Amino acid sequence: MTSPKETIADGKVVFLHYVLTDTDGDVIDESTPDDPLAYIHGTGTLIPGMEEALVGRSVGEQFKVVIPPERGYGVRTTDGPKPVPRSAFPEGFEVIPGMQLDSEDDDGTEMAIWIVDVDDDVVYVDTDHPLAGVTLQFDVSILTVRDATREELAHGHVHGAGGAHH
Ligand code: ZN
Repeated sequence: MTSPKETIADGKVVFLHYVLTDTDGDVIDESTPDDPLAYIHGTGTLIPGMEEALVGRSVGEQFKVVIPPERGYGVRTTDGPKPVPRSAFPEGFEVIPGMQLDSEDDDGTEMAIWIVDVDDDVVYVDTDHPLAGVTLQFDVSILTVRDATREELAHGHVHGAGGAHH
């Protein structure tokens, strides 16, 4: 008798490889052979469309999934990046394109902003995720599925190889 295969559900630790492309097939992001993506299912780590596509999958499964912006990084809500003077950032603070920062809007509500581009005097920032409005195509292969430990569940991340280093 073999035990039933572990399938992905809330509270499972999952290791997977993925290739993310846009609808033209251009690669946006991918995991590397020695650095698979590791996460705890049901903790909101991944975009909603990805967690939905992974439920019930088991080790060895390979599949493609197309995720619309609404189930991915959201629809676009701005007209694009806005220029901010470089001097608005603390001196010595290295501003790098792609960086995500916590900011506050005029009412003091916390929100994420992304650095899109950096000139000598001007930094272009956007409150939309860089992949907002993008239809995402994932190629996924499942490497490992196991129960999360109590410690991992408390921390909300995976420990050990491929997991968080802290
Ligand atoms: Zn931890």
